[in-house]
Amino acid sequence: MEFSLKDIKQDFPIFHNSDLVYLDSASTTQKPQVVLDRISSMYSEANANVHRALYSLGSVATERYENSRKKVSSFIGANSDKEIIFTSGTTESINLLAHTLTDKLKPGDEILLSEMEHHSNLVPWQLAANRTGASISYIPLSKKGELDLSEPERYFKPSTKIVSITHVSNVLGTINPLKKISEMAHEMGAVFVVDGAQGAPHCSVNVKEIGCDFYTFSGHKMLGPTGIGVLWGKLELLESMEPFMGGGEMIETVTMESSTWNEVPYKFEAGTPNFVQAVGLGSAIDYINSIGINNISDHETKLTEYALEKLADIDNFRLFGSPIDRTGVISFNIDGIHPHDLAQFLNEDNIAIRVGHHCAQPLLASLNETSIGRLSFYLYNNESDIDNFCDSLTRIKAYF
Ligand SMILES: *Cc1c(COP(=O)(O)O)cnc(C)c1O
Repeated sequence: MEFSLKDIKQDFPIFHNSDLVYLDSASTTQKPQVVLDRISSMYSEANANVHRALYSLGSVATERYENSRKKVSSFIGANSDKEIIFTSGTTESINLLAHTLTDKLKPGDEILLSEMEHHSNLVPWQLAANRTGASISYIPLSKKGELDLSEPERYFKPSTKIVSITHVSNVLGTINPLKKISEMAHEMGAVFVVDGAQGAPHCSVNVKEIGCDFYTFSGHKMLGPTGIGVLWGKLELLESMEPFMGGGEMIETVTMESSTWNEVPYKFEAGTPNFVQAVGLGSAIDYINSIGINNISDHETKLTEYALEKLADIDNFRLFGSPIDRTGVISFNIDGIHPHDLAQFLNEDNIAIRVGHHCAQPLLASLNETSIGRLSFYLYNNESDIDNFCDSLTRIKAYF
């Protein structure tokens, strides 16, 4: 299916009557009008607490909320919508797992991560390791910025209990070979968790094909609202896990002494869920499906090729990573210009890029950098955004 870029930008009110060049979608994405309208209509037409109210308004809200769960389920190829747990985002999803999957960990057990992980997929596991006495090991990176899986036996061991790896690097754009990692993890009897914060928005995801046990992502990085995210897990694993947070709705019965748990997924959704945001995420998924996730990723691939070609002509442009399989993320420094100065000068031309450590300090340490610049694209970006960036960069360089 063909899709017209000019029309796509029109779907996003933030770009109306504006020269904004937004190149920071790996941090958060802009929202199409349909998503904003859906959120607004939840508050103006269907606002009542879900799963509690016996009146009609409550049923409408509950129906929309549960319908959104179905949309998420089919978007990632889950077996059943029971496998979809709504959280506040990737960070909460991973914290949930780092609490509940680590019950039985003991000294000598290992958690396997990689050097390219986001702090959200590092710190929760470090806290769990401190609590249980388990240790953490890291798959290193190759010069290209891909996972170095050349000696798997050094990392995948019988003591490996949990493997948690990002689908796509938020700094280098590297798409990791999840199927292969899944096989190696399962051969050791470990569970395999995927941080899909940069995967679900940009790649076609089928959790059954990947073969992972858990997949996590955030609504706000895929055109949806903030405050909503997803934890997908295999049903039998979710059923065997203890709850994470306690509160309303996650219980079956409560006495003064003890409680029993509601069924999955409600066991993991304590308190009033972010049902408005969940419905907003459902609408974002409808929007993505109307364009086609493969069309989106093809578009990003073309933009990335175009940008890399243009940037190669700029003196002192240092690119980080050259992975073969990549999404629309480009990290770089310009020798002689501090990235923070660069971001401020670009801002004067209304160009938004992210600079800093990108919540991946171990990765930056492996690059011997403390701060780098990053461009990240999404479906609403086009070649003229890249041309504007390059023109502005050339002017800034002349100034320095
Ligand atoms: C953004 C991001 C996260 C954290 O997502 P939140 O929405 O902040 O919870 C985790 N991992 C990666 C790779 C990310 O890009």
